[in-house]
Amino acid sequence: MADPVILLVSAEHSEFLLDEFGRYARDYDLRTAHSAAEAIEVILQVKAEGSTVALFVQDGQLPDEHPLMAFHHWRKKVPTARRVIAAPWEHFLAQAAELRPGLAKGKYDAYLLMPRGVRDEEFHGAITELLSDWGSTVAMPEVESVRIVSPPNTPLTNAIREFTERMGMPTRVYPPESPEGREVLDEHAQTGGEVTWPVMRTIGRPVYAPTSVRDVATQVYGAPSDIDVDEVVDLVIVGAGPAGLAAAVYGGSEGLSTVVLEAEAIGGQAGTSSMIRNYLGFPRGISGMRLAQRARNQAIRFGVQFYTGWEVDALDRCHDGGHHLLRTQGGDVHARSVVVATGVAYRKLGCDGIDDLVGMGVTYGSAMSAARESQDGDVVVVGGGNSAGQAAIHLSRFARSVTIMVRRPGLEETMSQYLINEIAFNPRITVETCCQVVDGGGEGRLEWLDVRDVTTGEVARREVTGLFLLLGADPHCDWLPSGVARDAHGFVLTGRDVPPASWSDGRPPANLATTMPGVFAVGDIRAGSMKRVASASGEGASVVPLVHSWLSP
Ligand SMILES: Cc1cc2nc3c(=O)[nH]c(=O)nc-3n(C[C@H](O)[C@H](O)[C@H](O)COP(=O)(O)OP(=O)(O)OC[C@H]3O[C@@H](n4cnc5c(N)ncnc54)[C@H](O)[C@@H]3O)c2cc1C
Repeated sequence: MADPVILLVSAEHSEFLLDEFGRYARDYDLRTAHSAAEAIEVILQVKAEGSTVALFVQDGQLPDEHPLMAFHHWRKKVPTARRVIAAPWEHFLAQAAELRPGLAKGKYDAYLLMPRGVRDEEFHGAITELLSDWGSTVAMPEVESVRIVSPPNTPLTNAIREFTERMGMPTRVYPPESPEGREVLDEHAQTGGEVTWPVMRTIGRPVYAPTSVRDVATQVYGAPSDIDVDEVVDLVIVGAGPAGLAAAVYGGSEGLSTVVLEAEAIGGQAGTSSMIRNYLGFPRGISGMRLAQRARNQAIRFGVQFYTGWEVDALDRCHDGGHHLLRTQGGDVHARSVVVATGVAYRKLGCDGIDDLVGMGVTYGSAMSAARESQDGDVVVVGGGNSAGQAAIHLSRFARSVTIMVRRPGLEETMSQYLINEIAFNPRITVETCCQVVDGGGEGRLEWLDVRDVTTGEVARREVTGLFLLLGADPHCDWLPSGVARDAHGFVLTGRDVPPASWSDGRPPANLATTMPGVFAVGDIRAGSMKRVASASGEGASVVPLVHSWLSP
């Protein structure tokens, strides 16, 4: 396939930009245009050649169109390309006031100062970051660590691919009759193995035919039974979302022997977010998957052991040695202390068309960060609880119209009266009852929804710019023993939230400590937590001193 394109658009600076981007010429096809209209011609030509644009760069001063409108039109043709303004220094400040607000609304990805000399690594650092993000989330990986051979779209192949990609292993799937597929199958034939789909090759390992995601996890990362049966580790962290990963980095770096047990791939809910924009230190945002991979690599540097694909089924107190026993189907692990970081699972709508557009107009769980992108749009909020009501009110500050959709005949049973009153007085918010979103789609971004009237069964299509799903979330807590106190919804109680009856000597447990000695809880699983990446990772870091004091009182 042809190299992806970097399209440099400027009436006055396109030659300068071409020279400046020369360092990317080996891996990307550099093209220029002098106006917004010419850029569209180039885009159409690139698409006709079977290639795509990875990055648009413009100087914010196009002769024929407002720069943000130009991005809007280019985005319609290539929704996945990253978009950058490289402002010439003489216009940088003047343009900034007008163009920077577009960043907050997600109209483009970065506002940079055009390089003023050679080796402007600050500028190129930002460009490389955007290209790397494009490469890991959009493009087919050029460098593959995992080759899967399978007929297209089988559920097991898809599940394995999702697992390996979320674990940071670039993966490509080839049909059995392709040359790449045949190469793997020939190698498999030499081992005498039976051919069941998929057959796969992971870098540095023999070809094999896994029958489950866990097979792959075991092949690549091993199982908890690999730990010496007599070993009692200082700390076992259950769950490798942001909270568990932060606890792993700090536990490992503070010298604790640390093991992480994760039921799926690393990253938790954050790992499913295409772009986290509000995490400290990433001004251009970062995909949750990449954030998680970086954290895992950081923890591994400090000696932390990860076992992914192994769900903890039970936590017991070991009677003889006084330590804890974590049970998985791949072996038990003994631990002096345990951090519970198993998070929550947002209830899904269960509609593939919509779930495929999460991060592209569809938002689960929180409306705060995506609200600005709803400026002047028509958005739908699904859910009848207080979180849905608050989200609708917040969204109405940005969107032209907000429609709350619920299956019930009203909000009274599920939402606080003060919110119902506020919604009734808000001219931008409408409530539609007895209806259900059943499908949705769009080109690279959500554009329409199919809504069914639950009384008549009639389905009608409507155009929307955003969908916010606030269907509630269930904590991952079934595996916890009754000795770990929880609230009515199953979230783990810690510190002063623990009922006084369970305090010892009239004192509540420490801040992140549960009712079971040596067991702590952090992140979304904890009752009263903020449900954000930063708060989860903050709690993961803060729990480590408490673990230290538990281990050496
Ligand atoms: C689509 C989406 C987008 C989001 N975007 C943002 C955003 O932009 N900014 C922001 O601040 N927040 C965002 N959030 C919220 C944020 O991701 C969560 O608050 C955060 O991930 C919570 O981290 P956690 O580690 O506590 O739990 P989780 O992320 O839920 O991780 C828990 C982990 O524990 C594992 N686990 C569960 N049970 C077991 C078991 N028995 N044994 C072993 N492992 C187990 C799970 O597989 C999971 O990997 C988003 C959430 C979603 C769903």
